[in-house]
Amino acid sequence: VRRNNRSPVLRFLPEMDAALQRRRQLETELFKAIVRDELHMVYQPLTNLADRSIFGVEALLRWDHRELGPISPAEFVPIAEENGYIVELGAWALNRGMKEALTWSSHLRLSINVSAIQFSRGNLVATVGEALQRTGFPSDLLDLEITESLFIDETLDLKFAMEEMRAFGCSFSLDDFGTGYSSLGYLPKYPFSKIKLDKTFVRQSIASKQDISVIEAVLHMARGYGMSVIVEGIETGEQAERLRELGCKYGQGYLFGRPMSSANLQSTLLNAA
Ligand code: C2E
Ligand code: CA
Ligand code: CA
Ligand code: CA
Repeated sequence: VRRNNRSPVLRFLPEMDAALQRRRQLETELFKAIVRDELHMVYQPLTNLADRSIFGVEALLRWDHRELGPISPAEFVPIAEENGYIVELGAWALNRGMKEALTWSSHLRLSINVSAIQFSRGNLVATVGEALQRTGFPSDLLDLEITESLFIDETLDLKFAMEEMRAFGCSFSLDDFGTGYSSLGYLPKYPFSKIKLDKTFVRQSIASKQDISVIEAVLHMARGYGMSVIVEGIETGEQAERLRELGCKYGQGYLFGRPMSSANLQSTLLNAA
């Protein structure tokens, strides 16, 4: 390893400090975000590749801090997962998502992201049950997106919790598929109805033969388990067409629609009708 003349420690520390300081600041501010009304949900279309009709939306959290401006969930969700506040944020997101979805003119499937921490540190089953009851949202339209990280904690009685929520009528999607553990053994053990193939596969899906084989293998496997596949991160018409040719039925991405406010989604639905 080539060493720089200047001390690497001295060059590194101020940046570490800034990152750490921002993290601390976000952590403190995040606790106030709900009462200050700084959070909202945006909704991104889930689309049939054949006719580009919208069958559902994925709900995504947004935080606009009054001084710091918009902060990405990619930055604040991991902080909230670490300190446990994701339990509160997640409950807020579930209630807000269902409430807003009920105002739309068409009844779409509503996919909401849930974190493993909501299972382990919160009572997700009760939270989902209460939100369904409070809002009156039809449970068979509610889909919960969870990532493979959930399978790390083997002490969690995940399967039992999922079965309880399935008894309410909810369904489950395995999010970011292909980025994690690549062990497929657990898949049939849990009641997933959908797999969301991560956007990293789409990026090169036109160029790389390897990615195409992965996509084909995932489609084949999903069919075997009776699950459907949604491909994430579709940005170009070429990608959509190529994926459709490969046998993909459902997609999500900037090509079909950016994440948008509840009101903008409602106008999009009216325009499409
Ligand atoms: P995710 O669940 O994989 O969500 C999809 C992300 O991909 C979203 O980023 C979305 O805006 C982005 N995306 C959609 N289409 C495209 C595309 O065509 N190209 C590209 N490059 N990106 C696209 P976002 O909204 O920034 O969210 C980032 C992550 O934060 C989410 O990834 C999810 O892991 C987490 N997150 C967001 N909202 C929630 C929430 O309510 N609860 C939990 N637990 N996590 C959330
Ligand atoms: Ca997701
Ligand atoms: Ca995803
Ligand atoms: Ca993700």
